[in-house]
Order: sequence, then structure tokens, then C-alpha cells
Amino acid sequence: MEPIRIAIVGVGKIARDQHIPAIESTPAFSLAATVSPNHRGPEGIPHLDSLDELLEKGPAVDAVALCTPPQVRYDLAVQALKRGIHVFLEKPPGATLSEVVALRERADKVGVTLFASWHSRFAAGVAPARAWLSDRTVHKVSIVWREDVRVWHPGQDWIWEPGGLGVFDPGINALSILTHILPQPVFMKNARLSIPENRAAPIAADIDFADAGGAPIHMDLDWRQTGPQSWDIVVETDAGTCKLSQGGAVLTLPSGTEHNEDLEYPGLYSRFGNLIRGGRSDVDIDPFRLVADAFLRGHRQIVEPFHD
Ligand code: NAP
Repeated sequence: MEPIRIAIVGVGKIARDQHIPAIESTPAFSLAATVSPNHRGPEGIPHLDSLDELLEKGPAVDAVALCTPPQVRYDLAVQALKRGIHVFLEKPPGATLSEVVALRERADKVGVTLFASWHSRFAAGVAPARAWLSDRTVHKVSIVWREDVRVWHPGQDWIWEPGGLGVFDPGINALSILTHILPQPVFMKNARLSIPENRAAPIAADIDFADAGGAPIHMDLDWRQTGPQSWDIVVETDAGTCKLSQGGAVLTLPSGTEHNEDLEYPGLYSRFGNLIRGGRSDVDIDPFRLVADAFLRGHRQIVEPFHD
């Protein structure tokens, strides 16, 4: 079978750190081009400054991976879907819920694959945690997602703008795991968003959720942590505690701890390839909806300015 010819659109941190190596290691794909206004991709791969230019001049592609900031993703996705090109959306899948729903409908109508990717769901511990929790009663969940924004998002102004999500940019990774592993739906109850006085998006948030059975779920998000990050989810159940740490890579169950190799992005590309070959889409908006709910219903407090 011929590999799927793919272009990466947006050659930034995640494209360089994860997408390029994952595509290079997945035989189902070949990297046909990169597109980015300022930064080039690997030596020897055709590079264009915009998606318009790629679509006009080629090389021909079957798929695009949109690794831009979320605020520009909808227009790029529409351009690709109109040409029958399959679309991989980095997380979060867009800047608003309504545009992601519109993309899903458009992709279904034209029979092209749209994949709203959630890389954290492909962390090694997540699938076994989901399987273990499937027939448990959840009593309580605690999420602590704290990291140093200067280390993980240096100089990324878009992340502080409306639609950039602020601390929910990493926080949505925790929610993508939570909504995947819990056996019941999750609702937002209260949120307190801390927004620096010189920025439009939160630097920290403290949120209470509950599942449909009433189990309390607390999430502590903070970008002001220095030193090692904390990316932990602890689920207390009728059969003991399930802990996912290091962003889902390490799973601790009452029977012991499992550490596994990080294969998140190869897993995402394997899934995208299977969706394309099977003529299907995968657009789960549950994590994004919880973030939108926090912005809809959260209390905002202004905190000290943040400078990179
Ligand atoms: P980034 O370093 O700022 O990279 C984004 C790139 O998009 C920029 O380098 C910019 O290219 C390019 N771009 C902007 N507008 C464009 C357009 N209209 N057409 C083509 N390219 C355009 O951001 P990032 O950290 O890689 O994050 C990108 C997305 O991946 C975000 O949604 C983020 O949540 C997600 N993500 C990031 C991480 C991470 O650890 N950083 C992890 C997982 C997922 P130029 O530089 O050429 O101007």
C-alpha cells in the first residue's frame, strides 16, 4: 500500500519535537511538505510559506497535520477539507466549540477524515487505566497539573490571547484523559480562574467537577510551578486507588506500578492512518466542552502581571 502523503502545517515546537519524528517512524505516512510562514522543516522536504501556496503549487498531498495555534486552525481545515484532504487537528481542536462542530459536519458531508487528536490519551498508562476503571465505582478524583510556563511555552504569545486557553492548554490534556478513563460523564460545577492583569487567559485555575454518580473531582492547574512539573490524576474507587502520573505514562494500581515507553505521537499517527484507510473520522469534543464550561461559569480574579 502506498504511504499517505502528508504535509505539516505550522513548523513550531510540537511539529519539531513530535510530529516530524513520528511521521518519519510511521511507514503508513510520508512527509511530502512542510508549511510555515517563518520556520522551515527538515532539509530536503519541500517547504511552502502558506497552505494557499501548497494547494496552488503542490506537491500533492493526501493529508495535512495542523500544528498551528488553535486560533487559525478552522480556516486552514476548511481549505483542506474543500480539496478532499484528510485533516489531523492538534489539540485543542479549534478556538471555539461551534467551529469544531462545523468542521465535523463538513468532513462527514464530504466523506473526508477529520481527526481531533488528544495525544495524552495515547500515553502508555491510559488504556489500562480505562480498562481497570470500567467496572469500578468512582468515589473521588484529584488532578494536579502544574508546570512552568516559561519552560513549556517560552515566548508563545498566542497562548495568552483569546482562544489560546492559557493554562487550559496543558489542562485540557488532563481532561482528555479524565473523560476517557472515567466510566460516567463529567460535569463542571465551579471554577476560579486567575488571570494576569496584562493577559487575556488564565495562568492558574481551581476547578470542581463531578461525575454523573456525584463523585467529586478536583483539578488544580497552575503555570507558576518551578522545578519539576506535576501531571497526576488520582482516582479513588471501591476497589482501591488508580494513579496516573507523568502525564499518563506511569500507572499505579493496587497490583503495582507500570512504566512504559512514550509512544503518544506514533500512536496518534497509527490511529490517523487507520481512520483514513477505514473512511472514518474521530472528533470527540468532551474535553474542550469542559474547558468552555469553565470559561462560561468560572469566577475570574485578576492576579499580578506575567512577563516571559
Ligand atoms: P508554536 O511553537 O508557537 O508553533 C506554532 C507554529 O504555527 C508557529 O511556529 C508558526 O510558524 C505556525 N503558524 C502560525 N500561523 C500559521 C499559519 N496560518 N499557517 C501555517 N503556520 C502557521 O506552538 P506549539 O507549541 O508547537 O503548539 C502548536 C499546537 O500544538 C497548539 O495547539 C498546542 O496546544 C499543541 N501542542 C503543543 C505541545 C507543546 O509541548 N508545545 C504539546 C502538544 C500539543 P512560524 O514559526 O513559521 O511563524
